[in-house]
Amino acid sequence: MIIFKPTLSPAEFDATARALNRFMGGSVEYDVRHASDPRAAENVRMGGQLLRALRSEGPLRIDTTGFLMPELGTPLDQLRREGRGAIGIGLTNEPLFAARNGVEQEELGVGLYRRGAIVSVAGLRRRFGFDRRTGRCERDADVAMRALELAVCHELGHVLIESYGRSGKNPVEEAHCPYSSCLMQENSGLGDFVERIVRRGFGFCRECTQRIGMELGLLRPA
Ligand SMILES: [Zn+2]
Ligand SMILES: [Zn+2]
Repeated sequence: MIIFKPTLSPAEFDATARALNRFMGGSVEYDVRHASDPRAAENVRMGGQLLRALRSEGPLRIDTTGFLMPELGTPLDQLRREGRGAIGIGLTNEPLFAARNGVEQEELGVGLYRRGAIVSVAGLRRRFGFDRRTGRCERDADVAMRALELAVCHELGHVLIESYGRSGKNPVEEAHCPYSSCLMQENSGLGDFVERIVRRGFGFCRECTQRIGMELGLLRPA
């Protein structure tokens, strides 16, 4: 797993590192690279698309059907064989917009099964009064950083869990966990995520933990 670090503050960077350090009990190795590093996308699935998104200026508008598509339809097996199996999670301070139920709205993050994820700190910075000089949030800084940590875990969950639905028809619509005390449950946006999930300190439920572990097991080199 690789983090692309654009203009994050040290506190934001630490929150992201905490998310990865605790992911699956620390059994996941990860590497950190800056988006301007020419080797940043090396070994990373859909890395070229992730880099283009992170290097662009201004708000990111994401069409979740086309976001982080495998390059030229390359199957994931092939990407893995070619050593491009690392999952990329991008961090940006630009606002992120995605269509939800046909309506575009600002999101904390977007993550898609077997592709990759992007998390934006823009909404958290606004909500918690980020001060550029100190690089810290003025209000409830602990809650803000905890929200970032859990948002990274949630979006990685989407990359690693296919669907909770039985129909298997639309993984994007059935991407959330039905358990009401799980980090992967549906939320209606940043405020809801913070108040209902972050403040209660929810983590992955047992089923999500198992699904993620299975997917990571599949991804280990043979
Ligand atoms: Zn989600
Ligand atoms: Zn769950």
